[in-house]
Amino acid sequence: MNPLRSIILAAAKNGAIRKAVATAPVSRDVVRRFVAGETTADAVAATRALVADGLTVTLDHLGEDTTDAALAERTVLAYEELLSALHAEGLSDRAEVSVKLSAVGQLLDEDMALANAERICRAAEAAGTTVTLDMEDHTTTDSTLRILAELRKTWPWVGAVLQSYLHRTLDDARALASSGSRVRLCKGAYAEPETVAFAAGEETDLSYVRCVNALLAGDGYPMFATHDPRLVRIIGERAEVHGRKPGSFEFQMLYGIRPEEQRRLAQLGHTVRVYVPYGGEWYGYLMRRLAERPANTVFFLRALATR
Ligand code: FAD
Repeated sequence: MNPLRSIILAAAKNGAIRKAVATAPVSRDVVRRFVAGETTADAVAATRALVADGLTVTLDHLGEDTTDAALAERTVLAYEELLSALHAEGLSDRAEVSVKLSAVGQLLDEDMALANAERICRAAEAAGTTVTLDMEDHTTTDSTLRILAELRKTWPWVGAVLQSYLHRTLDDARALASSGSRVRLCKGAYAEPETVAFAAGEETDLSYVRCVNALLAGDGYPMFATHDPRLVRIIGERAEVHGRKPGSFEFQMLYGIRPEEQRRLAQLGHTVRVYVPYGGEWYGYLMRRLAERPANTVFFLRALATR
Protein backbone atom coordinates (compact mmCIF):
# COMPACT_ATOMS: atom_id res chain seq x y z
CA MET A 1 0.00 0.00 0.00
CA ASN A 2 1.14 3.55 -0.75
CA PRO A 3 2.97 4.85 2.40
CA LEU A 4 1.03 8.15 2.53
CA ARG A 5 -2.22 6.19 2.42
CA SER A 6 -1.09 3.94 5.28
CA ILE A 7 -0.01 6.94 7.38
CA ILE A 8 -3.32 8.76 6.93
CA LEU A 9 -5.40 5.65 7.62
CA ALA A 10 -3.30 4.94 10.76
CA ALA A 11 -3.60 8.58 11.89
CA ALA A 12 -7.37 8.33 11.39
CA LYS A 13 -7.47 5.75 14.19
CA ASN A 14 -5.48 7.99 16.59
CA GLY A 15 -7.77 9.56 19.19
CA ALA A 16 -5.78 12.79 19.63
CA ILE A 17 -5.60 13.44 15.87
CA ARG A 18 -9.28 12.64 15.52
CA LYS A 19 -10.15 15.21 18.20
CA ALA A 20 -7.90 17.89 16.71
CA VAL A 21 -9.28 17.48 13.19
CA ALA A 22 -12.90 17.04 14.19
CA THR A 23 -12.92 20.23 16.26
CA ALA A 24 -10.83 22.45 13.93
CA PRO A 25 -13.15 25.18 12.64
CA VAL A 26 -11.72 24.90 9.12
CA SER A 27 -12.66 21.23 8.91
CA ARG A 28 -16.30 22.14 8.38
CA ASP A 29 -15.52 24.01 5.14
CA VAL A 30 -13.34 21.22 3.82
CA VAL A 31 -15.89 18.61 4.76
CA ARG A 32 -18.57 20.36 2.70
CA ARG A 33 -16.66 19.47 -0.44
CA PHE A 34 -17.29 15.76 0.19
CA VAL A 35 -20.31 15.69 2.53
CA ALA A 36 -23.76 17.05 1.65
CA GLY A 37 -24.52 18.47 5.12
CA GLU A 38 -25.65 17.27 8.50
CA THR A 39 -29.45 17.02 8.32
CA THR A 40 -32.10 15.08 6.44
CA ALA A 41 -33.10 18.35 4.76
CA ASP A 42 -29.49 18.84 3.53
CA ALA A 43 -29.47 15.28 2.15
CA VAL A 44 -32.79 15.79 0.36
CA ALA A 45 -31.65 19.13 -1.10
CA ALA A 46 -28.42 17.59 -2.46
CA THR A 47 -30.42 14.71 -3.92
CA ARG A 48 -32.86 17.08 -5.62
CA ALA A 49 -30.01 18.99 -7.25
CA LEU A 50 -28.29 15.84 -8.53
CA VAL A 51 -31.53 14.35 -9.83
CA ALA A 52 -32.24 17.62 -11.66
CA ASP A 53 -28.90 17.05 -13.44
CA GLY A 54 -29.97 13.61 -14.68
CA LEU A 55 -28.13 11.64 -11.98
CA THR A 56 -29.33 9.04 -9.50
CA VAL A 57 -28.26 8.89 -5.87
CA THR A 58 -27.40 6.58 -3.00
CA LEU A 59 -27.39 8.25 0.42
CA ASP A 60 -25.17 7.27 3.33
CA HIS A 61 -26.03 8.46 6.84
CA LEU A 62 -22.49 8.84 8.17
CA GLY A 63 -21.42 6.78 11.14
CA GLU A 64 -19.49 3.55 11.60
CA ASP A 65 -17.95 1.26 14.21
CA THR A 66 -20.84 1.80 16.62
CA THR A 67 -20.31 0.04 19.93
CA ASP A 68 -23.44 1.43 21.53
CA ALA A 69 -26.94 0.06 20.88
CA ALA A 70 -28.52 3.50 21.43
CA LEU A 71 -26.35 4.98 18.68
CA ALA A 72 -27.27 2.13 16.35
CA GLU A 73 -30.93 2.88 17.07
CA ARG A 74 -30.39 6.56 16.21
CA THR A 75 -28.87 5.52 12.89
CA VAL A 76 -31.90 3.38 12.04
CA LEU A 77 -34.23 6.26 12.92
CA ALA A 78 -32.20 8.60 10.71
CA TYR A 79 -32.58 6.21 7.75
CA GLU A 80 -36.31 5.83 8.38
CA GLU A 81 -36.72 9.60 8.45
CA LEU A 82 -34.63 10.00 5.30
CA LEU A 83 -36.53 7.33 3.36
CA SER A 84 -39.88 8.81 4.22
CA ALA A 85 -38.63 12.31 3.26
CA LEU A 86 -37.35 11.02 -0.11
CA HIS A 87 -40.73 9.42 -0.72
CA ALA A 88 -42.66 12.55 0.29
CA GLU A 89 -40.48 14.66 -2.03
CA GLY A 90 -41.02 12.32 -4.99
CA LEU A 91 -37.33 11.40 -5.12
CA SER A 92 -37.40 7.77 -4.07
CA ASP A 93 -37.50 6.45 -7.64
CA ARG A 94 -34.09 8.09 -8.22
CA ALA A 95 -32.50 7.73 -4.79
CA GLU A 96 -31.72 4.73 -2.59
CA VAL A 97 -29.66 4.35 0.61
CA SER A 98 -26.29 2.81 1.44
CA VAL A 99 -25.86 1.34 4.91
CA LYS A 100 -22.72 0.47 6.87
CA LEU A 101 -23.63 -2.49 9.06
CA SER A 102 -21.07 -1.38 11.65
CA ALA A 103 -23.21 1.72 12.17
CA VAL A 104 -26.23 -0.41 13.09
CA GLY A 105 -24.51 -2.72 15.57
CA GLN A 106 -22.48 -5.33 13.60
CA LEU A 107 -19.53 -5.06 15.97
CA LEU A 108 -21.80 -5.61 18.98
CA ASP A 109 -23.95 -8.43 17.73
CA GLU A 110 -24.64 -9.74 14.21
CA ASP A 111 -28.30 -10.44 15.01
CA MET A 112 -28.81 -6.86 16.15
CA ALA A 113 -27.28 -5.59 12.92
CA LEU A 114 -29.55 -7.89 10.91
CA ALA A 115 -32.67 -6.76 12.79
CA ASN A 116 -31.72 -3.09 12.31
CA ALA A 117 -30.96 -3.63 8.62
CA GLU A 118 -34.37 -5.30 8.26
CA ARG A 119 -36.04 -2.17 9.61
CA ILE A 120 -34.19 -0.05 7.05
CA CYS A 121 -35.17 -2.45 4.25
CA ARG A 122 -38.82 -2.28 5.35
CA ALA A 123 -38.69 1.52 5.25
CA ALA A 124 -37.05 1.40 1.81
CA GLU A 125 -39.74 -0.97 0.55
CA ALA A 126 -42.45 1.38 1.84
CA ALA A 127 -40.73 4.27 0.06
CA GLY A 128 -40.41 2.26 -3.17
CA THR A 129 -36.62 2.17 -3.24
CA THR A 130 -33.64 -0.06 -2.43
CA VAL A 131 -30.76 -0.50 0.02
CA THR A 132 -27.11 -1.34 -0.61
CA LEU A 133 -24.89 -2.73 2.17
CA ASP A 134 -21.51 -0.97 2.09
CA MET A 135 -18.51 -3.23 2.59
CA GLU A 136 -16.10 -2.36 5.39
CA ASP A 137 -12.78 -3.88 6.47
CA HIS A 138 -12.05 -7.54 5.70
CA THR A 139 -12.85 -8.74 9.24
CA THR A 140 -16.51 -7.97 8.47
CA THR A 141 -16.78 -9.41 4.95
CA ASP A 142 -18.20 -12.83 5.87
CA SER A 143 -20.64 -11.35 8.38
CA THR A 144 -21.82 -8.75 5.85
CA LEU A 145 -22.36 -11.40 3.17
CA ARG A 146 -24.31 -13.54 5.66
CA ILE A 147 -26.57 -10.61 6.53
CA LEU A 148 -26.96 -9.83 2.81
CA ALA A 149 -28.10 -13.40 2.13
CA GLU A 150 -30.65 -13.22 4.98
CA LEU A 151 -32.03 -9.87 3.81
CA ARG A 152 -32.26 -11.02 0.20
CA LYS A 153 -34.69 -13.80 1.22
CA THR A 154 -37.28 -11.06 1.75
CA TRP A 155 -35.84 -8.20 -0.31
CA PRO A 156 -33.94 -9.65 -3.30
CA TRP A 157 -33.03 -6.12 -4.38
CA VAL A 158 -30.62 -5.52 -1.47
CA GLY A 159 -27.31 -4.54 -3.04
CA ALA A 160 -23.91 -6.03 -2.19
CA VAL A 161 -20.50 -4.37 -2.37
CA LEU A 162 -17.29 -6.14 -3.39
CA GLN A 163 -13.75 -4.75 -3.09
CA SER A 164 -11.30 -5.73 -5.83
CA TYR A 165 -8.27 -5.35 -3.53
CA LEU A 166 -9.24 -8.53 -1.65
CA HIS A 167 -7.84 -11.81 -2.98
CA ARG A 168 -11.20 -13.51 -2.46
CA THR A 169 -13.28 -11.10 -4.52
CA LEU A 170 -13.32 -12.78 -7.94
CA ASP A 171 -14.93 -15.84 -6.33
CA ASP A 172 -17.45 -13.59 -4.55
CA ALA A 173 -18.20 -11.76 -7.80
CA ARG A 174 -18.92 -15.04 -9.60
CA ALA A 175 -21.12 -16.22 -6.73
CA LEU A 176 -23.11 -12.99 -6.67
CA ALA A 177 -23.54 -12.52 -10.44
CA SER A 178 -26.97 -14.14 -10.47
CA SER A 179 -30.27 -12.87 -11.80
CA GLY A 180 -31.53 -9.70 -10.13
CA SER A 181 -28.42 -9.40 -7.96
CA ARG A 182 -27.30 -5.79 -7.52
CA VAL A 183 -23.54 -5.70 -6.93
CA ARG A 184 -21.37 -2.62 -6.49
CA LEU A 185 -17.74 -3.20 -7.40
CA CYS A 186 -15.14 -0.84 -5.89
CA LYS A 187 -11.39 -1.04 -5.29
CA GLY A 188 -11.68 -0.92 -1.48
CA ALA A 189 -10.88 1.87 0.95
CA TYR A 190 -9.48 0.28 4.13
CA ALA A 191 -5.91 -0.47 5.28
CA GLU A 192 -5.72 -4.22 4.77
CA PRO A 193 -2.89 -6.71 5.44
CA GLU A 194 -1.12 -8.36 2.51
CA THR A 195 -2.40 -11.73 3.69
CA VAL A 196 -5.86 -10.81 2.39
CA ALA A 197 -5.37 -7.92 -0.05
CA PHE A 198 -3.19 -6.97 -3.01
CA ALA A 199 -0.40 -4.64 -1.98
CA ALA A 200 -0.01 -2.94 -5.37
CA GLY A 201 -2.55 -0.68 -7.02
CA GLU A 202 -1.91 -2.33 -10.38
CA GLU A 203 -2.92 -5.76 -9.00
CA THR A 204 -6.08 -4.24 -7.53
CA ASP A 205 -6.87 -2.71 -10.93
CA LEU A 206 -6.31 -6.05 -12.72
CA SER A 207 -8.54 -7.73 -10.17
CA TYR A 208 -11.14 -5.00 -10.76
CA VAL A 209 -11.16 -5.79 -14.49
CA ARG A 210 -11.48 -9.54 -13.86
CA CYS A 211 -14.47 -8.83 -11.61
CA VAL A 212 -15.97 -6.47 -14.23
CA ASN A 213 -15.90 -9.37 -16.68
CA ALA A 214 -17.40 -11.81 -14.16
CA LEU A 215 -20.23 -9.42 -13.28
CA LEU A 216 -21.00 -8.43 -16.88
CA ALA A 217 -20.98 -12.09 -17.96
CA GLY A 218 -23.54 -12.96 -15.28
CA ASP A 219 -27.23 -12.09 -15.05
CA GLY A 220 -27.04 -9.56 -12.24
CA TYR A 221 -27.03 -5.78 -12.22
CA PRO A 222 -23.43 -4.53 -11.80
CA MET A 223 -22.78 -1.12 -10.28
CA PHE A 224 -19.24 0.00 -11.12
CA ALA A 225 -17.98 2.41 -8.47
CA THR A 226 -14.77 4.10 -9.58
CA HIS A 227 -13.41 7.50 -10.60
CA ASP A 228 -10.55 5.89 -12.48
CA PRO A 229 -10.69 7.07 -16.12
CA ARG A 230 -8.88 3.97 -17.34
CA LEU A 231 -11.36 1.66 -15.63
CA VAL A 232 -14.35 3.70 -16.82
CA ARG A 233 -13.12 3.24 -20.39
CA ILE A 234 -12.49 -0.48 -19.91
CA ILE A 235 -15.95 -0.97 -18.34
CA GLY A 236 -17.50 0.68 -21.42
CA GLU A 237 -15.52 -1.59 -23.76
CA ARG A 238 -16.22 -4.77 -21.79
CA ALA A 239 -19.94 -3.91 -21.58
CA GLU A 240 -20.06 -3.81 -25.39
CA VAL A 241 -18.25 -7.14 -25.66
CA HIS A 242 -20.80 -8.67 -23.27
CA GLY A 243 -23.72 -7.11 -25.15
CA ARG A 244 -24.72 -5.02 -22.15
CA LYS A 245 -26.73 -1.92 -23.02
CA PRO A 246 -26.73 1.26 -20.88
CA GLY A 247 -29.32 0.68 -18.17
CA SER A 248 -28.31 -2.97 -17.63
CA PHE A 249 -25.44 -1.77 -15.43
CA GLU A 250 -24.49 1.55 -13.84
CA PHE A 251 -21.57 3.78 -12.94
CA GLN A 252 -21.19 5.13 -9.42
CA MET A 253 -19.01 7.96 -8.11
CA LEU A 254 -18.68 9.84 -4.83
CA TYR A 255 -20.28 13.21 -4.12
CA GLY A 256 -17.87 16.01 -5.02
CA ILE A 257 -15.47 13.81 -7.00
CA ARG A 258 -15.26 14.23 -10.81
CA PRO A 259 -18.72 15.83 -11.07
CA GLU A 260 -18.17 16.74 -14.75
CA GLU A 261 -17.44 13.09 -15.53
CA GLN A 262 -20.63 12.06 -13.71
CA ARG A 263 -22.63 14.38 -15.97
CA ARG A 264 -20.75 13.37 -19.12
CA LEU A 265 -21.55 9.67 -18.57
CA ALA A 266 -25.19 10.48 -17.80
CA GLN A 267 -25.42 12.49 -21.02
CA LEU A 268 -24.17 9.45 -22.93
CA GLY A 269 -27.26 7.62 -21.64
CA HIS A 270 -25.67 5.74 -18.74
CA THR A 271 -27.23 5.43 -15.33
CA VAL A 272 -24.85 7.28 -12.99
CA ARG A 273 -25.38 7.09 -9.25
CA VAL A 274 -23.73 9.55 -6.89
CA TYR A 275 -22.92 8.34 -3.38
CA VAL A 276 -23.98 11.17 -1.09
CA PRO A 277 -22.80 11.04 2.54
CA TYR A 278 -24.45 13.29 5.11
CA GLY A 279 -24.59 13.60 8.90
CA GLY A 280 -22.33 14.74 11.72
CA GLU A 281 -20.04 11.69 11.86
CA TRP A 282 -17.93 12.61 8.85
CA TYR A 283 -14.44 11.94 10.26
CA GLY A 284 -13.75 8.34 9.13
CA TYR A 285 -15.25 9.03 5.70
CA LEU A 286 -13.16 12.15 5.17
CA MET A 287 -9.96 10.40 6.24
CA ARG A 288 -10.50 7.63 3.67
CA ARG A 289 -11.00 10.23 0.93
CA LEU A 290 -7.79 12.02 1.97
CA ALA A 291 -5.88 8.73 2.06
CA GLU A 292 -6.96 7.89 -1.48
CA ARG A 293 -5.59 10.94 -3.14
CA PRO A 294 -2.62 13.13 -2.18
CA ALA A 295 -4.27 16.09 -3.93
CA ASN A 296 -7.18 15.86 -1.49
CA THR A 297 -4.71 15.94 1.41
CA VAL A 298 -2.89 18.94 -0.03
CA PHE A 299 -6.25 20.69 -0.40
CA PHE A 300 -7.05 19.90 3.23
CA LEU A 301 -3.65 21.00 4.62
CA ARG A 302 -3.69 24.18 2.53
CA ALA A 303 -7.11 25.05 3.94
CA LEU A 304 -5.75 24.52 7.48
CA ALA A 305 -2.66 26.62 6.75
CA THR A 306 -4.55 29.57 5.30
CA ARG A 307 -6.78 30.00 8.34
P1 FAD B 1 -8.25 5.51 -7.34
O1 FAD B 1 -7.23 4.42 -7.47
O2 FAD B 1 -8.41 6.19 -6.02
O3 FAD B 1 -7.97 6.63 -8.42
C1 FAD B 1 -7.70 6.26 -9.76
C2 FAD B 1 -7.77 7.47 -10.65
O4 FAD B 1 -9.08 8.04 -10.59
C3 FAD B 1 -6.84 8.59 -10.26
O5 FAD B 1 -5.54 8.36 -10.74
C4 FAD B 1 -7.53 9.77 -10.92
O6 FAD B 1 -7.26 9.78 -12.31
C5 FAD B 1 -8.99 9.46 -10.72
N1 FAD B 1 -9.45 10.09 -9.48
C6 FAD B 1 -9.60 9.51 -8.28
N2 FAD B 1 -10.02 10.42 -7.38
C7 FAD B 1 -10.11 11.58 -8.02
C8 FAD B 1 -10.47 12.90 -7.63
N3 FAD B 1 -10.76 13.21 -6.36
N4 FAD B 1 -10.47 13.87 -8.57
C9 FAD B 1 -10.12 13.59 -9.85
N5 FAD B 1 -9.76 12.36 -10.26
C10 FAD B 1 -9.75 11.38 -9.37
N6 FAD B 1 -14.98 1.40 -0.56
C11 FAD B 1 -15.20 0.40 0.32
O7 FAD B 1 -14.25 -0.16 0.86
N7 FAD B 1 -16.49 0.00 0.61
C12 FAD B 1 -17.58 0.55 0.02
O8 FAD B 1 -18.71 0.15 0.32
C13 FAD B 1 -17.36 1.60 -0.92
N8 FAD B 1 -18.39 2.19 -1.55
C14 FAD B 1 -18.14 3.09 -2.55
C15 FAD B 1 -19.19 3.62 -3.28
C16 FAD B 1 -18.94 4.46 -4.35
C17 FAD B 1 -20.08 4.99 -5.16
C18 FAD B 1 -17.59 4.80 -4.70
C19 FAD B 1 -17.27 5.65 -5.88
C20 FAD B 1 -16.56 4.31 -3.94
C21 FAD B 1 -16.81 3.48 -2.87
N9 FAD B 1 -15.77 2.98 -2.10
C22 FAD B 1 -16.02 2.00 -1.18
C23 FAD B 1 -14.40 3.56 -2.20
C24 FAD B 1 -13.56 2.79 -3.18
O9 FAD B 1 -13.25 1.53 -2.66
C25 FAD B 1 -12.25 3.54 -3.47
O10 FAD B 1 -11.53 3.70 -2.29
C26 FAD B 1 -12.44 4.90 -4.10
O11 FAD B 1 -13.49 4.91 -5.00
C27 FAD B 1 -11.18 5.31 -4.84
O12 FAD B 1 -10.91 4.39 -5.87
P2 FAD B 1 -11.07 4.74 -7.42
O13 FAD B 1 -11.63 3.54 -8.08
O14 FAD B 1 -11.86 5.97 -7.59
O15 FAD B 1 -9.58 4.89 -7.93
